[in-house]
Amino acid sequence: MYIELFFFTLGLIIGSFLNVCIYRLPQNQSILTPSSHCMTCNTHLKPWDLIPVLSYHLSRGRCRYCGVSFSSRYPIVEILTAGLFVWCLYILGISLELFKTLILTSFLLVITFIDYDHQLILDKVLLWLFGAGVVINLWTNSLDIWDMIIASFLGGGLLLFIAVISRGGMGGGDIKFAAALGIWLGWQYLLLTLLLSFIIGGVGGLLLLAFKLKNRKDFIPFGPFIALGALISSLYGNEIITWYLERL
Ligand SMILES: [Zn+2]
Repeated sequence: MYIELFFFTLGLIIGSFLNVCIYRLPQNQSILTPSSHCMTCNTHLKPWDLIPVLSYHLSRGRCRYCGVSFSSRYPIVEILTAGLFVWCLYILGISLELFKTLILTSFLLVITFIDYDHQLILDKVLLWLFGAGVVINLWTNSLDIWDMIIASFLGGGLLLFIAVISRGGMGGGDIKFAAALGIWLGWQYLLLTLLLSFIIGGVGGLLLLAFKLKNRKDFIPFGPFIALGALISSLYGNEIITWYLERL
């Protein structure tokens, strides 16, 4: 029980940092300075204003200094991160794989929310994803260099091919995102990720149209679907591939 509580709290704290990344990176602002402040009155928030979820709840979602409403996005991202961290712990147990998956999950959350807000996957985030993947794999010996290279070209190449035949249905950001995920996942899990993202994206797109949340002319960012596919592959890839092979 204590270990779940520890990972939930860790998720809240990391989620709070991911909020800063999601908000500031698209505006080319530093994620380290200045410290968190109210966007309206510019008051620097004190440590007790920055306790994830709790501060938001106690101040009823408002700035304590000028009363402006804060977006409910902040506590949502914090709770989502915390929930995913506990879920990863539950599936993977304390392991190197868990450590790797928590870092990947954090990247996936930042990419998902920025893509949702701005229809953009930032190169600087992808470069960090790329670099972190190489370092962690070499350090933990989980993938050899050739598997990373092949998976990376496979991911980028497949989405580039789809982008060409669909004439812009896939953006440059998606292509680079798939290439970077190849580094993290290796070629088998990468293929599973792309397959899942097409299925989830197809169903998700139809649902968005059916409930009139989007219409035919709207651009629906594909990055969040790739991110969800990558998360499912990381947590359940082994089971899904085994299940599939048994039925061949
Ligand atoms: Zn304020």
